[in-house]
Amino acid sequence: MIHFFNTLTRHKDEFKPIQTGFVRIYSCGPTVYNYPHIGNYRAYCFADLMRRFLEWKGLKTLHVMNITDVDDKTIRDSQKEGVSLKEFCHRYETAFHQDLAQLNVLPAHYYPRATEHINDMLTIIQELIAHKKAYKSDDGSVYFKIDAFPDYGKLSGLKKDALQAGASGRVKKDEYTKDNASDFVLWKAYDEADGDVFWETRVGKGRPGWHIECSGMSTRYLGYSFDIHTGGVDLIFPHHENEIAQSEGASKKKFVNYWLHNEHLLVDGKKMSKSLGNFYTLRDLLDRGNDKGFDPLAIRYALIATHYRSQLNFTFDVVHAAEKTLAGMQDFLVRLDDDAVGKVATGHKFAEDALGLQLDKTKTEFAAAMSDDLDVATALASIFALQHAANKALDQKAVSKALAEKIAAFFWHDFNAVFGVLKKNSAAEVPETVLKLVEERERARKEKDFKKSDSLRDQIKALGFALDDTGNGVRVKKI
Ligand code: AMP
Ligand code: ZN
Repeated sequence: MIHFFNTLTRHKDEFKPIQTGFVRIYSCGPTVYNYPHIGNYRAYCFADLMRRFLEWKGLKTLHVMNITDVDDKTIRDSQKEGVSLKEFCHRYETAFHQDLAQLNVLPAHYYPRATEHINDMLTIIQELIAHKKAYKSDDGSVYFKIDAFPDYGKLSGLKKDALQAGASGRVKKDEYTKDNASDFVLWKAYDEADGDVFWETRVGKGRPGWHIECSGMSTRYLGYSFDIHTGGVDLIFPHHENEIAQSEGASKKKFVNYWLHNEHLLVDGKKMSKSLGNFYTLRDLLDRGNDKGFDPLAIRYALIATHYRSQLNFTFDVVHAAEKTLAGMQDFLVRLDDDAVGKVATGHKFAEDALGLQLDKTKTEFAAAMSDDLDVATALASIFALQHAANKALDQKAVSKALAEKIAAFFWHDFNAVFGVLKKNSAAEVPETVLKLVEERERARKEKDFKKSDSLRDQIKALGFALDDTGNGVRVKKI
């Protein structure tokens, strides 16, 4: 049984997809007006972890992530730069996909762009007007009437009395707080400040509000009702509250069964954000001037190894620690290949049996912990305990090839299928030039020419590879 903490019910609910074996997921995607920061990537790595876990459990997924390529910010900043909205957004959309690939995030099945789904938004807006849940204001903009939707506030826990006080007004901006809860904009009538960004449509000339974009695109690809919707906690209000109002107001069906929200990545106790200026983009971290850039998989690990509903304070130390953890795991997997023995000596048979039992226990614990609202801390503790025990057994030559293969299979096909943080560090990935230098160094060592062998080690290092001299010969690994 899988349980997820559902913001809608404020409980860990048993997860049951609408259609057996098939999970439809929508994740609010990036507003492509700048390079996303790694706080944003915490949201996308979390959604990826959740999706990978469901797939590992044997469920099929349909994952949709929108691209917000028209809103107040994209218009403002493209105008500042004097380039078309399309060209401007395209640049950051491309960068976003490059970053996701570096972070080993599985691509969504669809990445719909808002500008290409205006019609889907209009369909909902018209439906809402027909149901008297939306109205046109004097300037031709269309607003959602929150009084006409009694469930308004059910996701964010908005207090009804607070709502009544503020409900008389209207809000045209895309982003606002609970204190300003009021009728919100679905369609923004054309304003000269929008320049050449407008659509001539059946509800008038203008552009969509941000919230209707996600209702329009999710309905197009996933239907009126689907299983999981993700985003950071800052999106609960107003964005997701408004999505529910729009979609349920139009379809009269339950929009989403499970709302999953990730907590923020912080810097010095404050949310990492563009507006506070306390952010790092992925690019910043991969290219750190004179310092060696971080490994993107270590950044991924750092972002997912803390439970998604806990805040995480970002420091370089967190990523350094992640690099160390992953290097330890990679080394362990190489050792499993190299140091396992054909047959374990009788004196070590007991140790091997114990390790086999521990593997079974870890498999069970891993599945149980991840099924419990993605309890990564418990899952990882069990995995590290197994790694530690296996390393000790390898020291004693107490691991047979057969058991080593089973352990390796668990790390690659179970742990890594869900976490996505390991690299195949096979000899095939070591370039020919490096292999040649390694051979030459082995020869120098045999001839006891240590000066030469040290200099060769330095050359190899300069090419980005490190050497481990072990009892079973030399091991080459990427730095
Ligand atoms: P945006 O492009 O601002 O709409 O944000 C994209 C996603 O990143 C949303 O799901 C946000 O909730 C999420 N997000 C923004 N800042 C952070 C942060 N500091 N930590 C975690 N998630 C964040
Ligand atoms: Zn959204």
